[in-house]
Amino acid sequence: MTRPVLAAPRRPTRAITLGGLAIGGGAPVTLQSMTTTKTADVEGTLSQIYALAAAGADIVRCTCNEEEAAEGLAHIVPRSPVPIVADIHFHHEMALAALEAGVQGLRLNPGNLRKEAEIKQVASEAKDRGVPIRIGVNAGSLHPDLYKRFGGATPEALVESARMELAFFEEVGFSDVKISVKASSVPLMIAAYRLASETFDHPLHLGVTEAGPPPAGLIKGTAGIATLLAEGIGDTIRYSLTADPVEEARAGRQLLEALGLRERKGLDLIACPSCGRAEIDVIKVAGEAQVALEALNLPIQVAVMGCVVNGPGEAREADLGIAAGRRRGHLFIKGKIIRVVPEDEMVAALVDEAQKLVAEGIEARLAAADAGAEAEAEADRQALFEAKGADANHAAAKVELIRRTVQEEHDRG
Ligand code: SF4
Repeated sequence: MTRPVLAAPRRPTRAITLGGLAIGGGAPVTLQSMTTTKTADVEGTLSQIYALAAAGADIVRCTCNEEEAAEGLAHIVPRSPVPIVADIHFHHEMALAALEAGVQGLRLNPGNLRKEAEIKQVASEAKDRGVPIRIGVNAGSLHPDLYKRFGGATPEALVESARMELAFFEEVGFSDVKISVKASSVPLMIAAYRLASETFDHPLHLGVTEAGPPPAGLIKGTAGIATLLAEGIGDTIRYSLTADPVEEARAGRQLLEALGLRERKGLDLIACPSCGRAEIDVIKVAGEAQVALEALNLPIQVAVMGCVVNGPGEAREADLGIAAGRRRGHLFIKGKIIRVVPEDEMVAALVDEAQKLVAEGIEARLAAADAGAEAEAEADRQALFEAKGADANHAAAKVELIRRTVQEEHDRG
């Protein structure tokens, strides 16, 4: 079966390379996050970088706000598992120091680094070293002149800020650039990126800035980033959450996997929302399964379904799943029942089978199915169906009650 893909083709952008990693030009969408440690704290920052890389970050940004931070970068960059970008505000000397420290990328904020000569000096130095720069426009720190000229932080103002910075870069022959036009307002951010993608052919770095703590921050980030990715806009992404940055990296990775833009690296647990038919506490069992399976980080899709009547059918696309019925769990692979286990062994059986499935493959595990499992499961299904019928939510009785109430009201008055 061919799986549907995102409707819009990726918008063509020129390719740049950041520490050996391709961005734009049709390369897979990359994922970024940012450390929250003091960059001068080399060991603390490196340990966070390793955690971010393990959670799926392809690139990590560290602030370079003082000399000690630049010195820290000189020790961090050679030991980092992923390319490091230095985040620069206000002080162009910090950009020069970060380049000296060997960073693979820079982010400049045109809103607070405004002197033409200094911007050109950084661009020339980056050009000589083959280091790309992100022009990181932010609605909250837009250049005051542009704010006045456009009557606020409008999409046009954000894009104009990037265009002006790009013009300085081009004057020194530097075009190894990606662009971001972030805002904390999702509609503003979407409009600004749409305009940027019509204006520039440089790779775009997507993000909703200052999105706040989860879950609202996650929703805002996803609303903005996913909308644009579905339109084919965006070459690299970052969630900005007020949370452990590992959560940002995890969310970004999951979004790219959910949209089919990156290959699945870890577990994808799907679970039914539960309803009146559920034979188990789906939320509890799904939570236990998630904890146990995430620790193993197996690259498969696993389903936890609340009942055997609908579960295996609804989750037939999952690699592996379990559905509950009559105090027993029906373990299935691609919708085919392979074993029936007692209810209190459901999670253990799921974890055991998940490991075997990854080690041996789907065909081998289907061949190893228990003889009679299908028949046993069918007997459970029938018994449940007879006990609860098709009307597990007692809809017919509810409809009758509603009719009677309406009639009584009508008779009364
Ligand atoms: S799988 Fe069963 S319990 Fe879960 S939502 Fe569907 S019908 Fe309800």
